[in-house]
Amino acid sequence: MCGIIGYVGKNNALNVIIDGLERLEYRGYDSAGIAYLNSDGLLDIKKEKGKIKNLKETLDFDIKSSLGIGHTRWATHGEPNFVNSHPHKVGKITIVHNGIIENYMELKQELLKSGYSFKSNTDTEVACALLDKIYNETNSIEHTISIFRKKARGAYALGIIVDDDYNHLYAVKKDSPLIIALGDKENYIASDVPAILKYTNKYITIEDDEFAKISSDKVLVYDNNADLKKFEVKTFAGNSNDVMKNGYDHYMLKEIYEQPEVIKKTTLPIIEKDLDSLVNNMPDFSKYKKIDIVACGSAYHAGLVGKNLIEEYANVPVNVDIASEYRYKKLFIDKDTLVIVVSQSGETADTLAALNIAKTHGCDVMGIINVVESSIARKSDIVMYTKAGAEIAVATTKAYSCQIALLSLIALNIAYKNKEIDKSKALEVLKSIRCLPTNMQSVLNEFDEYKKIANKIYNNDKIFYIGRDIDYALSMEGSLKLKEISYINSQCYAAGELKHGTISLIDEGTPVIALVTNEKMAEKTISNIKEVKARGAYVILVTTDNINTDGDYYDEKIVVPCTNKFVQPILTVIPLQMLSYEIARLRGCDIDKPKNLAKSVTVE
Ligand code: GLU
Repeated sequence: MCGIIGYVGKNNALNVIIDGLERLEYRGYDSAGIAYLNSDGLLDIKKEKGKIKNLKETLDFDIKSSLGIGHTRWATHGEPNFVNSHPHKVGKITIVHNGIIENYMELKQELLKSGYSFKSNTDTEVACALLDKIYNETNSIEHTISIFRKKARGAYALGIIVDDDYNHLYAVKKDSPLIIALGDKENYIASDVPAILKYTNKYITIEDDEFAKISSDKVLVYDNNADLKKFEVKTFAGNSNDVMKNGYDHYMLKEIYEQPEVIKKTTLPIIEKDLDSLVNNMPDFSKYKKIDIVACGSAYHAGLVGKNLIEEYANVPVNVDIASEYRYKKLFIDKDTLVIVVSQSGETADTLAALNIAKTHGCDVMGIINVVESSIARKSDIVMYTKAGAEIAVATTKAYSCQIALLSLIALNIAYKNKEIDKSKALEVLKSIRCLPTNMQSVLNEFDEYKKIANKIYNNDKIFYIGRDIDYALSMEGSLKLKEISYINSQCYAAGELKHGTISLIDEGTPVIALVTNEKMAEKTISNIKEVKARGAYVILVTTDNINTDGDYYDEKIVVPCTNKFVQPILTVIPLQMLSYEIARLRGCDIDKPKNLAKSVTVE
């Protein structure tokens, strides 16, 4: 996934690049590297395995450098070691790369025949050699980039420096994110805007068939024929505080606590004037006979919650799929199907591919996206934005709950317009959405109680989650959150399914986190809880204040306020997020940057 940053201008490139890389570290942290102009006017390359702090310790920030490119890596080709780290330099070309060059083996063979040799196992070094070869033949970097595009297959964002010209950076992209930011006598390239927000909020997005030539006082954007193009300068609405920890120990905790505010921002503008707004401020879903929701990871779990609500209340069939499966399977979709793709970053490669495939079937595609102007947002026919703000922790919390909020509003909109629910019920749901931030705050305020529970179970090597109906979808998210950040092996099961095999894994003291928030299902789930309790489980019941929980079948109880089914999941997930956070903290894990993961998965 990798983070890229580049700088050319009047200030010190080293400071800007290292600071930017630290803000991009959520995208990968296998290694970090920088290429910069030294005080003798030559290009120095420094790289170190591991996190950015390792690289930082090797640099002399007193030198004044006017140009450089930096990279934080999430390895796809070749292990995370020094040689495979970026930047890569071949001949006169130095690059940093985000993405995968799919035909790199084929290109490598050709380049070997032409006399190139390779130090690393990366596809990136091959791309670099290819650029160098074409540059030697054409002596024009503009033409080099155009030819490169025709030869290289796959996804890439590249920051490029050419030895013959240390006054310019070059930026080129295809299916991987890259923006150009504009300052006063200084310009930047970056994988996302927050990386440079400390310096400027003015930026340009380049399209997949464009590339840019950047000096300290000029940005030129070219189309694929190397002809100049006009561009629009955009202003980023967030501020750099959004990307600071603001006193919290971890971004994840800060983001958990931000949930009441971002849920308000995401939902209230849509329902400002009650049901009229619910109808008028949302797309018209009436022409679709069925819905496919496609996503990865937590966004997939949000999709499962959406399916439950849309099917139950709006009476429209919904299929939910994991994007990496959807893109290769037989699809039963046509123009009557709305395909909803859900992605925090809007850059998730598998989800983007699923979007493109859905379009070839003639479907309308709607994106539920957090990052404005991201690739998926730009390619969707309709976009509904979650207003979660910058989410830095790799494990999502606030973006996930905002995704559920939008899917709930879609369910309510369709249900109300199709007269599947009456006006009073719809108004009751709107009221529960308005009360949601206050109710969320009251759940957040119980963190000390969740900490006590975490303290009792954090040493276990396995933890189960069970639930039925919508609680099953939420349990999946709870279990994923725990696995992602604490590395405890966690299994999630539909409560009724355990006895079909998995109950054999329950031993004396195995923690089972059991969700019971749906009154209709409560008795059934409680019977399943008794089955695990009888086999020695340590049961943590997560329930609502309306459910009768009399009995001695649980060891710990977390009670959240009971609200409407449309918004209940947003309350119920908070203790699950906080338990995972605290368990990971007690185990000494690197919560914001869990091992082997990265935030924005821009590779297949
Ligand atoms: N394929 C490149 C490498 O392994 C870049 C990886 C990425 O962007 O995730 O170094």
